[in-house]
Amino acid sequence: MRSDTSNLANKVQLPNIRLNLSRLRITSGTSEKSRATGMTSKDRITLYQDQGVQLLLGRFVKGEIVELVPSFDLSQTARYPEVEEVVDGDTTAAKQLVEKLWDVGIFKRKFHEKILVCPSCLSANVSNDYVCPNCNSIDIERKTLLEHTACGTIDSVDNFLIEGGLYCPKCNKELIEAGVDYQKLGAWFQCSQCGKRSDLPSPIHRCRSCGHIFTIKDTGFVNVYSYRISADAEEEFKRTFLVMKPIGATLEDFQYKVEMPGQIAGRSGALHRFDAIATKGSLELVVLDVVASEREIEETPIASLYAKVFDVSPTQTILVAIPRLSEKAKKLAALYRISVIEANDSQQAAELLKEHFGWTGLSGNEESIDDLQL
Ligand SMILES: [Zn+2]
Ligand SMILES: [Zn+2]
Ligand SMILES: [Zn+2]
Repeated sequence: MRSDTSNLANKVQLPNIRLNLSRLRITSGTSEKSRATGMTSKDRITLYQDQGVQLLLGRFVKGEIVELVPSFDLSQTARYPEVEEVVDGDTTAAKQLVEKLWDVGIFKRKFHEKILVCPSCLSANVSNDYVCPNCNSIDIERKTLLEHTACGTIDSVDNFLIEGGLYCPKCNKELIEAGVDYQKLGAWFQCSQCGKRSDLPSPIHRCRSCGHIFTIKDTGFVNVYSYRISADAEEEFKRTFLVMKPIGATLEDFQYKVEMPGQIAGRSGALHRFDAIATKGSLELVVLDVVASEREIEETPIASLYAKVFDVSPTQTILVAIPRLSEKAKKLAALYRISVIEANDSQQAAELLKEHFGWTGLSGNEESIDDLQL
C-alpha cells in the first residue's frame, strides 16, 4: 500500500496543511452542492486508499484538474474523460466513481445539462420525429400556401412550381420577389399515407437503440453534472492521505492498529476526532494530531488537543508540529503531558516518531517511503 503513494506524492507539493481549515466552502455559483447526507468520514478515507482515487484527487491538488466537465455521449449519456484515465478507460466505472465521490462528499456538483433518454432502455440516442395525428405515420410532407398578390390566387406552393420557378396557376405570371409578388400564407402538413392534413403534427421520440416510441409524457430525463473537489475533502485528502501516510506507516511498523483519521468516544460520551488513533489491544491507546503552519505554532492547537485528551484519557498523546511550536506552546504541551514532534515535513515527522518510540533498525519496507516528500 505504501509503495503506491510514492510516485504521486513525489509530484505533490503540500506546504500549508492546516492553514485553511476554517471549513470555508468554495461556492462559485449558488447551485454548487455537495451532498450533506450519507457523507461519512470512513467512506471517504476508504476511497482515499484507492489508487485510482489517489491519482485523480492528486491531479486536483496539483491544479491540473479544476472541474470535471461531462462530454455528451450517445451511448453513455455523459462521459468524464479524466476519470476514465484512472479506471483503465472503463466509461461505466468512471461514472460510478464520480457518483461515489459525490455521495461521500469528496465532490461537489453543479447542474450542467438535462439529457432526454429512452424510458425503456435509458439510451440517449433518441430521435425527435413528427407524425400524422390521424394515423401516426412519419411519412408527412410540409405544404406551403401561397397567394399571388396581383390576381389574388391562393394555392399550394406545389401548384406554383414549374421547372424550378414560381408561376401563378391562374394567370401564368412569374412570381419573383417574396413579400412583393406573392405572400406565404402559412403551412400545413399532409400525410402521404392517409392523405389527412394537419396544422400541427404530433411530436414523438423514437429510440434508435431499442426502437421504443414514446412521447414527452413518458420521456426519461437524466441530469448531468460537472464536478469539483470540495475544499473540505481536499484538505482531508492532503492531511489524511498524503501527510499522514508516512506517520501511519511508522505506527503500523510498531504493531499498532491505526485509524487515520479516527474517532473515539470520551467519558462524556462525546466523539472526538484525531488525525490518527493507534491501538494495541485494549491496553494502549495513542492519539496523534498534526498541525502545520508557515509560522511558529501558538498554544491554541495544544489547548484544543488537551480538551479532547482530557475526555478520552489515552496512554499517549502526540502532537506533530510542522515546522515548530512557540516556546509558550511547548511549555503548555509539557504541562499537559503532550509529546511534541517538530519536523519540517511529514517524512521527517515519521522518522522522529520512530525515535520517539525508541526503535531503531528492523525497518519494514523503508525504501518504499524514502522518496515521499511533502
Ligand atoms: Zn396519416
Ligand atoms: Zn395570378
Ligand atoms: Zn430504448
